[in-house]
Amino acid sequence: MKKAVFPGSFDPITLGHIDIINRGLILFDEIIIAIGINADKKHMFSLEDRKRQIEDTFKNESRIKVTTYKGLTVDYCKTVNAKFILRGLRNSTDFNYEQSIAQTNASLAEIESVFLVCSPKVSNISSSIVRDVIRNGGDYRNLVPRSVMI
Ligand code: ADP
Repeated sequence: MKKAVFPGSFDPITLGHIDIINRGLILFDEIIIAIGINADKKHMFSLEDRKRQIEDTFKNESRIKVTTYKGLTVDYCKTVNAKFILRGLRNSTDFNYEQSIAQTNASLAEIESVFLVCSPKVSNISSSIVRDVIRNGGDYRNLVPRSVMI
């Protein structure tokens, strides 16, 4: 069974993440959406809220699991027996950032990073832009799934 971990902060989950996850389901039998716990980072949504938003979004998809983890992503992959890390690319900035992480991860463990280029309709979306729109009272309905609005 091909299992991938899709790691991230998901503060909050956006239509960009969903685009990558749905297309990842064509490649993988199971995708574990893993929210990294980083005590040093300030979040807009609590860990519980982020987890609930993702679980709610994929409640009808049995091949998606939602979890949280601490520490290195490759160590977490080993504990769940996943050989792949799934990541999304929007642009060359994402690529440059992801390249060094993927190379480091490959040197730490036998885990392949798999990148999917996002659909053009979501290439402008990031969690940080969504947080900015929310903070400033803008309409963010076209950027996130319904579960983030509840
Ligand atoms: P991180 O803090 O690890 O970057 P994020 O939650 O911001 O976590 O992102 C998780 C993954 O989703 C990353 O691979 C990121 O590039 C990808 N991603 C985020 N937004 C988009 C988008 N609009 N299109 C494609 N991939 C995206």
